[in-house]
Amino acid sequence: MIDNFGRNIDYIRISVTDRCNLRCVYCMPEEGVENILHRNVLTFDEILRICRVLAQNGLKKVKITGGEPLVRRGVANLIKQIKDIEGIESVTITTNGVLLTEQYHNLVGAGVDSITVSLDTMDRAKYEKITRRDEFKKVIEGIRYAQRENKVRLKINAVPIYGLDETEILSLIDFARESDTDVRFIEVMPIGSGTEFESITEDDIRKVIEKHCGRLTLCEEIRGNGPSVHYSLDGFKGKIGFISAISHKFCDKCNRVRLTADGYLKTCLQFEAGINLMPYLREGKTDAQLLEALNFGISQKPKAHQFDQKENFEKREYRNMSQIGG
Ligand code: SAM
Ligand code: SF4
Repeated sequence: MIDNFGRNIDYIRISVTDRCNLRCVYCMPEEGVENILHRNVLTFDEILRICRVLAQNGLKKVKITGGEPLVRRGVANLIKQIKDIEGIESVTITTNGVLLTEQYHNLVGAGVDSITVSLDTMDRAKYEKITRRDEFKKVIEGIRYAQRENKVRLKINAVPIYGLDETEILSLIDFARESDTDVRFIEVMPIGSGTEFESITEDDIRKVIEKHCGRLTLCEEIRGNGPSVHYSLDGFKGKIGFISAISHKFCDKCNRVRLTADGYLKTCLQFEAGINLMPYLREGKTDAQLLEALNFGISQKPKAHQFDQKENFEKREYRNMSQIGG
């Protein structure tokens, strides 16, 4: 599906729940947020229907996200069913890793194409400060378990906040030294609770890495669904990546839309632009009508985000990433 600016939309990030077992400071307030009522959360059948209609029209890649996707029962089964849809080339998942050890084999059995674990620091106390939960040990166990089993590609995503700590950056990239696990640094986005934080810049992280580990060499091969730029390092099996939506804007190449857990097709992180699909799913509409709605939603996709501008935009997104599906 081509949007109004000629971008081919072939990737959707689907939030299967807005609930989460962590409370990351840049993603959710301490007290949590008011959860979507169960009856207003998309059923797996509804998600599958949307995927089928989109796949008939060019969708190729699906990311399962949340909230924390592994807290929703049966998520591996959903992945398996999406994988079976004709035209879908990859289904991946991003998780905070707390439940990874126990769910790993279900995910692998479902045919998931990669697992991304979000981990911002290797310092246990800092982890607790960021996530407001004491789950560091479980996450590291999950990562180690996945590395040992090595049945599916594993990636680590880090949103570095709270100052540049060289030791920490180096311990995070150690995951890529030891095994073919890519480690990617993501700039914090000024959305919801994220507005209170500033990322350490890509340039600063690169300097630390190059000072200690040698030159980062740009990697031509495409790894992943979207905008991350990857580098190789001598002596490292995995790659180092950067996803810097603010300092290295990539909207002109944006190939994605998002589906929130309550059925809103969201076309840009910063704006509400999109369409509520619920009426098309629950009011007896045909697939042709659903496709029309999807096309309308995609036609609303803005040309670019405007995080660098300070004005108060009318249709700006005020929800947290956990509610949008990051
Ligand atoms: N709970 C899962 C996890 O943490 O991977 C999936 C959902 S989470 C919203 C997806 C990703 O969004 C995580 O890597 C998280 O670090 C990132 N994220 C959340 N809030 C963000 C923000 N304000 N800016 C940038 N990334 C953010
Ligand atoms: Fe939960 Fe992921 Fe948000 Fe952290 S980033 S609060 S783990 S949804």
